[in-house]
Amino acid sequence: MTTHVNADGDGVGSEVALWHLLSARGVKASIANSTGIPDRFDFLVPDGADASDRAAKEIERADAIVVLDISDATRLGDLAGAVKRHGGPTVCIDHHVSPGTLPDGPRLVAPEASATAELVFDLAVTLGWELTPEVARALYVGILTDTGAFRFSNTTPRILRVAAALLERGVNAEEIYQQVYASAPEGRVRLTADVLQTLVVEPDAGLAWVTVPPDALERHGVTPDDLDGVVEFPRSIAGVRLALLFRHLASGRVKVSLRSLGDVDVAAFAQQFGGGGHAKAAGVSFEGTMGEVQERVLRAARAYLGDRATSRT
Ligand code: 5GP
Ligand code: MN
Repeated sequence: MTTHVNADGDGVGSEVALWHLLSARGVKASIANSTGIPDRFDFLVPDGADASDRAAKEIERADAIVVLDISDATRLGDLAGAVKRHGGPTVCIDHHVSPGTLPDGPRLVAPEASATAELVFDLAVTLGWELTPEVARALYVGILTDTGAFRFSNTTPRILRVAAALLERGVNAEEIYQQVYASAPEGRVRLTADVLQTLVVEPDAGLAWVTVPPDALERHGVTPDDLDGVVEFPRSIAGVRLALLFRHLASGRVKVSLRSLGDVDVAAFAQQFGGGGHAKAAGVSFEGTMGEVQERVLRAARAYLGDRATSRT
């Protein structure tokens, strides 16, 4: 099983849940990601389940690959080649709006799903596979994190019912909250402070953005996962319809995280540059310097918002 680079709670939660479900059926499963599992999700991962330190080898010798929370080969990072060369079936379970560029195999792809974990839940229930407390906990983490702790527009009646079913199977909501949101290293908070210093707001355009200062991650001894949620601050300003976070990737490219409110579709915006995601949360990366990328993206964003000059609802 693998997921996108810089796995998030939905990617890891879906992998861990499926690991338990498959292991209970005698399938030898392992997790093989291109980047390490963020520390705050370590509590979910059973001993021996994560083979990400030898991911390409693990994929090579697998009978089947399951790609979770992404349909796009390019978002597999260093493992894209191993997946493409594999030759066996490539299963995909995902909820992104994407053209889908993975090798052939069974698909469970539904952009209307709130989280990939919701689809893993559906799969297990449909097949009559037992939702043990370990499975329920991992799925709950996927749903909790992808809905922004039940705040974003994907907080549907259905996903709350699924979450309720998981609580009924023994999930402790407070314990999960503490592990996922209240176990941060001090550097995470200090990093947030540094990033927020860079805030720029264009009230007339409905635009706000922040930029991660060069070397800020190293300086605070944190990882890209510690930026998760920071883009919510520019989005939280009254009148802002499109919020952006700019940062350098280790590869030297510049990554842009996009969040929107109301009728602004950031997946469509990101797709014109080769990125993607969801209508209200998307991303894309570019070659070029920070200055060049900001100029290009912000110009496009102003035009994009100008074409959608309706008020935020
Ligand atoms: P984030 O900004 O938190 O990294 O990502 C937000 C959403 O956009 C996620 O659903 C993620 O999968 C998607 N996304 C982020 N970066 C990229 C990218 O470079 N390409 C594509 N296709 N999707 C991305
Ligand atoms: Mn997801």
